[in-house]
Amino acid sequence: MKKWKKLAAFGLAAALSLSILAGCSGGSDETTAAAETTAASEETAAAAEDTTAAEGAQTADGEWPADVQAIIDRGVLRVGVKNAVVGFGYQDALTGEYSGMEIDLAKMIADYLGVDVEYTTVTAATRGELLDSGDIDCVLATFTITDERKETWDFTTPYYTDYVTVLVEESSGITTLADLVGKVVGVSSGSTSAKSVVEAMIEEGVISGDNYNAETFDPATWTEGVSFQQYDDYPTISTALSAGEVDAFSVDKSILAIYNTEGRTYIEEQFAPQEYGVTTTKGSGLSDVCEELITGWLEDGTIDGLIAEYNLQ
Ligand code: GLU
Repeated sequence: MKKWKKLAAFGLAAALSLSILAGCSGGSDETTAAAETTAASEETAAAAEDTTAAEGAQTADGEWPADVQAIIDRGVLRVGVKNAVVGFGYQDALTGEYSGMEIDLAKMIADYLGVDVEYTTVTAATRGELLDSGDIDCVLATFTITDERKETWDFTTPYYTDYVTVLVEESSGITTLADLVGKVVGVSSGSTSAKSVVEAMIEEGVISGDNYNAETFDPATWTEGVSFQQYDDYPTISTALSAGEVDAFSVDKSILAIYNTEGRTYIEEQFAPQEYGVTTTKGSGLSDVCEELITGWLEDGTIDGLIAEYNLQ
């Protein structure tokens, strides 16, 4: 790993985490976000002058990788985030303000580059496409690292690990994975959820899994023991659950939390660890920058601080 990256990550990580934890956390509507970012950038620049970080942030010839330089020239880091995952990426409907651990991390990456941050709401179905099309530079949106996805995008070391579970109406009487036999589960298109449910049911011996193939599994055609209805977003699955269109709603626990309203409950099991990483275009310079920053923030306690701040334990 290049020296400038290491020095920069650690020096600025310390400065930034202090400013973030001191009350700059939380993105906001674009205007306020820009204002906050400017303030944070000034703070960062001031801090950088006093540390080796600024010197370290230069390569021998003083250049950034081309894709990172393009972001710096643009003056804005465009980040795909969730808008309804409390503690990760949540957008206040009235103010438009975003908040959560992923919002803070995105802002810290932008601050490190000395640019503003612009949040774009993404879903499990859209985040990869928006990255591929160049509409956004990176994704911090409960994006689980999988071997299959790593073939297409770069992921940093995980900054958080969640689990998958299943939300049901209490009146359904469903309390375990075994009770899901013969039922229809609502999942998001492009998510790991259906595969996680089937693998957990096989592991528990609830279904045989004789015809299960991890490589070819398709939620749309799977009908052995349980079947799936796919939706583009989570509010629609929640409505479908209320309407009895599906018997259950499965995804990561962090995402389900907001839909666990009165009269609903989780089943007993949680399964399939979901490791979230910052996602970037494969082979990009930004991948290295994000990896270096996340690794530094894991080592220096910044990420633990955010997990505690947002009650994500
Ligand atoms: N984290 C899971 C995934 O990446 C659930 C989908 C989501 O993040 O919305 O597939």
